[in-house]
Amino acid sequence: MLLDREDVRRAFGEDEFFPLFQPQVNLKTGRLAGFEVLARWRHARLGSIPPDAFIPLVLRHGFINSLTQRLLGKTFAASSLLPNALRLSINIAPIQLLDTTIPGRIAEAAGEGGFPLERLTIELTECALFEDLSLAQSVAGELKALGCRLSLDDFGNGESSLFHLEKLPFDELKVDRSFIAAMTGSPGSRKIVAAVIGLGKSLGMTTVAEGVENETQAAAMRAMGCALAQGWHFGRPAPAEEIPRMVAAARGTCARVLTFVEDESVDAEAACTVEA
Ligand code: C2E
Ligand code: CA
Ligand code: CA
Repeated sequence: MLLDREDVRRAFGEDEFFPLFQPQVNLKTGRLAGFEVLARWRHARLGSIPPDAFIPLVLRHGFINSLTQRLLGKTFAASSLLPNALRLSINIAPIQLLDTTIPGRIAEAAGEGGFPLERLTIELTECALFEDLSLAQSVAGELKALGCRLSLDDFGNGESSLFHLEKLPFDELKVDRSFIAAMTGSPGSRKIVAAVIGLGKSLGMTTVAEGVENETQAAAMRAMGCALAQGWHFGRPAPAEEIPRMVAAARGTCARVLTFVEDESVDAEAACTVEA
């Protein structure tokens, strides 16, 4: 697939970038916690292009802020479909944490869409690329001051390291999906995941398991005390129009999880009710 600058420029003109929403679930209660926003490019000729294929191109040609802006506009416009307790997580490129205009841009887009920044998490990867740690710390501090939470994405894959856990004010740790996939049949991987969850918890961070594809993996993460999970087991990334269906489906799943657990001390009705 040979795409160039002109394709990207045209895609903005034709409005071909849009967000998908993937459910994130509270492992203890089965309750829906929110959605991660994932970018897609609906190319006129090539169909749907995944972000791993086009983000490098968008970055190379200097369109990353335009992409974030376009996605945030559509994301916050759709946020009226979310019950009040649900959160949204967005991904930004590491280079954007060196951009002093990013907190203002995010705040403005959220304000226009009427979405409180206290319900927004910003996910970051490849922090090893930071050339200017003190600038990144300052921008991260501004985002936190606005009320956003910060998440260290893909933890353990080599790009997100222990070093950054201490240097930047992260609230959340996402265990890379390669670890979740390797857990089945590998006691070593299981121990690593348990250690990462323990580390996150001891640092007071919310832990998130990514790429959870089946109940075995979900049960293992629940047993380790991981707070949140996302993956095909809970729902594939879907367009904004599907949010009401996903919210309703999660309520049903939540009730089933709690019935299965048969914990009489848990009020299934209350646990599945989205808090105001
Ligand atoms: P990520 O943030 O780690 O997002 C999770 C990826 O795992 C998504 O791929 C999602 O579709 C996929 N996934 C979710 N559940 C499962 C599962 O159960 N099994 C497996 N095998 N995969 C699962 P996607 O949407 O292709 O996104 C790839 C990456 O592109 C993201 O990885 C993120 O780093 C980046 N990205 C996505 N949207 C944006 C954006 O708006 N801006 C920037 N800068 N990067 C973005
Ligand atoms: Ca992410
Ligand atoms: Ca990830």
